[in-house]
Amino acid sequence: MKKILMIPGPVEYDGDVLASMSIPTISHTSREFIEILQDALRNVKLIFGAPEDSLPYIISGSGTLAMEISVANFLKRDSKVLVVNTGYFGDRFAELISRFTKNIDVLKPGLGLAVDPEDVRDAASKKDYDLITVTHVDTSTGVRNDIKTIASALKDKNSLLVVDGVCSVGGESFDMKWGVDIAFTSSQKALGAPPGLAIGVVGKRGLERMERVDPLTYYSDLRKWLPVFKSALEGRASYFGTPNVNLIRALSVSLNSIKKEGMEKRIRRHEIVGDAIRSALNTIGLEMIPKSSYANTVSAVYLPKNVELQKFLSQAEENGVVLAGGLIEGISSKYFRIGHMGSVGPVEVLATISAVENSLKNNGARIEAGSGIAAAQQALQKLS
Ligand code: PMP
Repeated sequence: MKKILMIPGPVEYDGDVLASMSIPTISHTSREFIEILQDALRNVKLIFGAPEDSLPYIISGSGTLAMEISVANFLKRDSKVLVVNTGYFGDRFAELISRFTKNIDVLKPGLGLAVDPEDVRDAASKKDYDLITVTHVDTSTGVRNDIKTIASALKDKNSLLVVDGVCSVGGESFDMKWGVDIAFTSSQKALGAPPGLAIGVVGKRGLERMERVDPLTYYSDLRKWLPVFKSALEGRASYFGTPNVNLIRALSVSLNSIKKEGMEKRIRRHEIVGDAIRSALNTIGLEMIPKSSYANTVSAVYLPKNVELQKFLSQAEENGVVLAGGLIEGISSKYFRIGHMGSVGPVEVLATISAVENSLKNNGARIEAGSGIAAAQQALQKLS
């Protein structure tokens, strides 16, 4: 039986992305590969809304490598950092940064709440932070922060704004020109490619800051990598570490299909799909973790009290849909997560809601099967 992967990354890939993975590896210095890399880098800039004078990178590694790259290159041992923490990946950022500096303040709204941009501004007015990190969508909670307003609130500050876009870029409205200095994602989520690539962009202020910081790492040192990507953008081969030729080809295929769909249309599709899923879950009577500021890309949903997570997930899988459990310590077995990003549309939404309804019902929840499907169908009409 066919199963669909509806976890918050990795996601289902389009057939042409999958097919591209079976093409034999070519030389990383060949003209053909440099053209693929150049095309992927240009599309990364486009999708991030990157300014002309910024530099993109695509480096083998998962999203956590992109997190490390985005702080290690800009921090000294005595640097001051503010971490905006709206979930598990905010915790991870604070832990990661603590390897480089101990001067970390954490701004943590209550569970399910996005940060108030005014609170970020207030914090940044009290201390001269070198770096402020914000997770756009925390995958553990499905809470989306308002990056545009945060960036605007920090406009007159020297602090570099670093945005973790791992669960947002490609599925949420995002534009580095709002005032984001450093942003990143990874291949396996809303960009619709297999896992294994750390992808990001460093803006002008970040590039200038790098010149004043001694690198504390080797593989994550952008001074080594950025010349390679600069050369590729100019159509020339250059070497630091062997690039993942096959994955970059697959990424370039998925980035081109994103470009073909158009960013505005793609974000709107993600918005409608997210609305349809939430509308269905609300109709079934389930409570979401976010209090407002819901992400387009992921939903974190409390289970009814009498339903056991592992049984619920197994039943959903038997109904053809793979879902994820919770990630927040203390409540991880009380909620589940649905990833809805990439090429998702009505097929995935309806199959998912059907599996959720069946699994809840079979696990003793008192729900009216079919009511969620009807609500989702109604919301999906906006797609046409
Ligand atoms: N940040 C966010 C918001 C994420 O969702 C993830 C992965 N789920 C990461 C960082 C880390 O990415 P990876 O698992 O690819 O290392």
